Amino acid sequence: MRAMSGAIDPTLDDSAQTAQRLRVSEIFHSLQGEARDVGWPTVFVRLTGCPLRCVWCDTEYAFHGGQWYSIDDIVENAANYRTRHVCVTGGEPLAQKRCLDLLVRLCDAGYAVSLETSGALDVSGVDPRVSKVMDLKAPGSGEQARNLWSNLAVLTPQDQVKFVLADRADYEWACAALREHAIAQRCEVLFSPVHGKLAPRELAEWILADRLPVRMQVQLHKYLWGEEPGH
Ligand code: SF4
Repeated sequence: MRAMSGAIDPTLDDSAQTAQRLRVSEIFHSLQGEARDVGWPTVFVRLTGCPLRCVWCDTEYAFHGGQWYSIDDIVENAANYRTRHVCVTGGEPLAQKRCLDLLVRLCDAGYAVSLETSGALDVSGVDPRVSKVMDLKAPGSGEQARNLWSNLAVLTPQDQVKFVLADRADYEWACAALREHAIAQRCEVLFSPVHGKLAPRELAEWILADRLPVRMQVQLHKYLWGEEPGH
């Protein structure tokens, strides 16, 4: 946990305090390692908890623990870093209902806000100012059955769909999903190799050979800081 003062508003009664709180694993300042905003200095708000268990998950430390903080306090902490970009991530941030309120508050405060979500929970209530980066889980994740396909209908060109691919079977599954759901016509599509499992070059060659309308990405933070939490 970094840079958390833990202050809560003493003017609210207990039930109001509880209603406005979120369980947070960490708030930290780093470079955005993925998606459209890659490379931008960004404040990350990592909420605790996730109902999924992807086999290649790299944030298992966020499944449990964390601390309760008021939305006011989270917004105040984010302001300390003086960045334009804030990314709300997890775990699965939407597993906490108050995440929707936090996103509104961050947008109201003038940040460019992104949300990293698993694609398993309903995203229709997310503030339209937020740029959603939504996973679709391929078979190699072990969580393919959790994909909530109805989410695709509410995505817009400011959102992105991300496929994290462990092998050729995942790649072919993702290609079929692209065709069947016309995802690339709706928003930008990201293909990302599972770090240490699928060689980035191999994925790049498949994408080029198949002339896919997708954007390949590698996780910049893994190259800079490895698996170290807080980056
Ligand atoms: S959805 Fe994200 S946080 Fe949850 S298990 Fe999968 S990779 Fe990990």
